[in-house]
Amino acid sequence: MDKNHTFILGAGITGLTVGYHSCFPIIEAKDYPGGICSSYYLRTKDKKRLRKPSSDGKAYRFENGGGHWIFGADKKILQFIRKFTSLKSYKRRSAVYFNKKKFYVPYPLQNNLRFFKKEIINKILKELSSKSLGLSTTKEKWLLDNFGTILCKLFFFPFHSLYTANLYKRIAPQDTFKSPIDISLVIQGASHEIISGGYNTDFVYPVEGLNTLVDRISNHCNILYNKRLVKIDVKSKNIYFSDGSTKSYERLISTLSLNKMMQMADLAIDERPDPYTSVLVLNIGAVRGKRCPDEHWLYIPDSKSGFYRVGFYSNVDNSFIPKAFRKTNNRVAIYVERAYRDGHKPSGQELKAYSRSVIKELKHWAFVENIEIIDSTWIDVAYTWSWPNSKWKEHALEILKKHNIHQLGRYGGWKFQGIADSIREGLAFSSSLGKYE
Ligand SMILES: Cc1cc2nc3c(=O)[nH]c(=O)nc-3n(C[C@H](O)[C@H](O)[C@H](O)COP(=O)(O)OP(=O)(O)OC[C@H]3O[C@@H](n4cnc5c(N)ncnc54)[C@H](O)[C@@H]3O)c2cc1C
Repeated sequence: MDKNHTFILGAGITGLTVGYHSCFPIIEAKDYPGGICSSYYLRTKDKKRLRKPSSDGKAYRFENGGGHWIFGADKKILQFIRKFTSLKSYKRRSAVYFNKKKFYVPYPLQNNLRFFKKEIINKILKELSSKSLGLSTTKEKWLLDNFGTILCKLFFFPFHSLYTANLYKRIAPQDTFKSPIDISLVIQGASHEIISGGYNTDFVYPVEGLNTLVDRISNHCNILYNKRLVKIDVKSKNIYFSDGSTKSYERLISTLSLNKMMQMADLAIDERPDPYTSVLVLNIGAVRGKRCPDEHWLYIPDSKSGFYRVGFYSNVDNSFIPKAFRKTNNRVAIYVERAYRDGHKPSGQELKAYSRSVIKELKHWAFVENIEIIDSTWIDVAYTWSWPNSKWKEHALEILKKHNIHQLGRYGGWKFQGIADSIREGLAFSSSLGKYE
């Protein structure tokens, strides 16, 4: 048994950033690094998953968590990433797609009202200019207070119903920066060049794929793979693994989700745990359809199959499609995201039925023709939410800290954050340990 040890739990991008700087051992359940922030190759002939491009040049590249584009990376973060991989920069192209009307409005919708009919614009503006903002206790109320009934009925409610698996009526408003409001400018009639393109207008992505970043950081880390933590005894300071082995620890730096850590440590607090949603990602390689859009991704409020976002990896970079098709560009690599309530994973049969329905729908929209390959990934804790006035997260973080367990990252900290923020947090934590200047 190792005595007086600090362990990092999880080799996702947060754990890797701390592991790289501190050299503390990382405990990882899977046999590869990166967590959801990682890509893989899927060979068309035998559907084999590979970590590297296949030698026959006939593999699509997909990502574990659907398209993972790096937004908001400042100089320090870029410097860190560029130690391992070169990056390409992109200007975001995204839109809302109203399937029933076959109608696209560039994202963010509220800043692009000019795409609607004049009478609708007038109604929306009239409503917005006479609104007074109250204290919004739920996400539903926040949307209504900020965007008014017409925009909510058109887009925000149906979209959030899918995106939050219908939780939006009960959870507290959060991540409000994701729905930026330049409505005052819209009302004043500002030209669309002045009105902001919303949050995350630019992003970077590793030239050779996201896996090169996490693989190369991991080469400098001490990672114990295939070690799934199942129990923590905070009194004796022992951790237990699914393979029956045990380790003793002094301190844990955990990037595992807060709810699972509380369960594994068997710690009780007098608060109802906050809710979360899981995401099923369908990764699809197909012949490009005649009406396949050029956007990087689309927000969909009215899909029949229940998905809320369709992204086009290959519209960002055609290295996602097999080498053989890159010149003609007649293939498309797609990700389709659907939300489920806390861990309610569909059965094998439900997954088959859902996949059939998605394919039918995407073919009907002429986004795709023949499907070459389809694969799915499941992110159990994908989006973390909170009940109005909940103190669960605060108390859970506090009690774990008392036992020398420090929660980091998007899921560890139960918050919305992207890759750049996760690296930033990893660097700041390493710095607090005196391991990074
Ligand atoms: C659908 C979706 C789309 C997203 N898109 C973007 C995007 O475009 N751009 C962006 O910047 N961010 C995006 N994000 C956010 C981004 O994925 C996260 O910020 C980041 O990956 C979090 O990294 P992490 O290391 O904190 O967590 P994770 O990647 O979850 O890492 C945790 C690690 O712990 C391991 N682990 C779990 N349980 C155990 C256990 N019991 N024992 C041992 N190990 C365990 C896991 O295998 C994993 O490797 C998206 C997130 C989702 C859900």
